[in-house]
Formats: sequence, C-alpha cells, structure tokens
Amino acid sequence: MDTDLTGKRAVITAGASGIGLATAKALQGEGAKVFVCDVDEAALAALPEGLTGAKVDVSKSAEVDAWLSPILGDGVDFLINNAGTAGPTAAVEEIDDEGWRSCLAVGLDSQFYCVRRVVPVMKKQHSGAIVNLTSTAGIMGFPNRSPYTAVKYAVVGLTKTWAMELGRDNIRVNAIAPGSVNGDRMDRVVAAHAKAEGVTEDHVRAMYTLGTSMACFVDAEEVADMIVYLCSDRGKRISGQIIAIDGNTETQHPRDL
Ligand code: NAD
Repeated sequence: MDTDLTGKRAVITAGASGIGLATAKALQGEGAKVFVCDVDEAALAALPEGLTGAKVDVSKSAEVDAWLSPILGDGVDFLINNAGTAGPTAAVEEIDDEGWRSCLAVGLDSQFYCVRRVVPVMKKQHSGAIVNLTSTAGIMGFPNRSPYTAVKYAVVGLTKTWAMELGRDNIRVNAIAPGSVNGDRMDRVVAAHAKAEGVTEDHVRAMYTLGTSMACFVDAEEVADMIVYLCSDRGKRISGQIIAIDGNTETQHPRDL
C-alpha cells in the first residue's frame, strides 16, 4: 500500500503521548514533517528525534495561534485534532462548572481554534486533510461522562459540517472514533469509573471489553494506521466519515455483568 507522505507537513495537538504520539510516529515513518504540541513538558522533552514539539495549551486560542502561525508560513497538509481530556466520571448532578467547561475547552474549543487557522492555508493550496478524534461516546453516549459525550457528539457534527463546507476546496475532513485504547488514559478512566460505581477495576474492564462484539480493547497504533491512510492519497475520496476503531461497540455499559 502506497502511503508515502514525503514532503508533507502535519500538525498534531496533544501529540506527546498516547494516540497523538503514535500518530506522530506513524506520519513521520511515512516521511512527513510532524509538529506536535502538548502541555506536558516532560513528555515533550522525551519526544523521539525528528518530531518538533511545543508547549501549548490548546484550550487557549492565543496559544494555538502563536504555535501555528510560524508553522503555517511554510504550508500545512494535515491537521490531527487529537487533544481531548476524559473529563469527570460522575453522575450528571455532581458535575461542577469547571468539570464541564474544561472538558469542552480542551476537546472541542481546540478543534475550532486549529481548524479556523489551517483552513485558509489549505484553501490556498487546494489540498488538505483534517482528522478529528471523537469516540464511541460520540456515537452512542456514555453514562456518567456528560461533558465528554457532549464534546464527542459535537466533534461528529463539526466533522460533517466542515467536510461539506470544505469539499470544493479539496480539503477532506474525517473523524476517528476509538473504543477503549490500551494505555495510561484508559487506566485512569477505568479507575475513575470503578470508584464512581463502587465496583472493581477488573469489573469495569470486563464491562468495556464485553460491550464490544470482538471483546477487545484497541492499540493506539491501530488508530494511527487509519489516520495515515486518511491523510495519504489512498484516502483521497474519503470525507465526512466517522470511522470507529473499536471492535464494534454494542453497548458502553452492559448492566448485567
Ligand atoms: P491522553 O489522555 O493520553 O492525553 C494525550 C495528551 O494530551 C497528553 O500528553 C496531555 O498532556 C495532553 N493534553 C492534555 N490537555 C492538554 C491541553 N490543554 N493542551 C495540549 N495538550 C493537552 O489522550 P489519548 O488517550 O491518547 O486520547 C487522544 C484522543 O483520543 C482524545 O481526543 C480522546 O478523547 C480520544 N479517545 C481516546 C480513547 C482512549 O481510550 N484513550 C478512546 C476514545 C477516544
């Protein structure tokens, strides 16, 4: 499969760990020049050679603008809107303003801040690919994750909207909806869920696993592979799609375990 990206330029939000880092490595592996941002200075300092990192809080538009401005001067081919925090795992009546607002700011506002800056450049080039990270929570909801679900449904709506708005400019916009991804973040989510429901972490893992047809978690690299495909010429007629990589989630919350 030819997914050569030599000479292409990619920007990835929250790219110093997890899915963002796996994607940065995968795009770099295909020859792209990759720029990542993150708030975690230690993770940025540990980035593999060749990746360009910057400390940016993507929930702040001024910081996003300052990060992107010099990069965009030389063009941009791909934007991976990856940033998104899990937000509180709690009953809706227990979520405070900060828990609500911060989850929306990182996961949703950031996508708008980045897209409005890269689009004029992509329009001039008459090419570009944008990949937004949503979640299975943005397809079927997720109990006790109100702000996260709000963000991920909004991302689906924006993906559809931007794909329609930008198609004539040869800019493609798709979203990936991962299921439960092995790694630190899912460890934290499982722990929070177990605490909120008064069950063991093994019980929560079993719930998430058995809620999928394939009884599985997924790896960040499997998500990254699909992002590479969507950025490459192989994906040149794919736009406006929400692609789940999740082993087919049937339910987020089997209640009969
Ligand atoms: P993660 O929780 O591992 O975090 C990735 C990075 O985000 C970290 O390096 C962190 O420092 C950075 N970050 C946090 N706040 C930031 C901010 N304000 N500005 C810049 N960087 C910030 O993330 P992940 O699990 O790799 O998930 C990436 C994306 O995939 C998210 O949008 C997430 O919602 C989505 N997703 C993840 C899973 C999963 O199981 N991990 C499942 C479905 C969807």
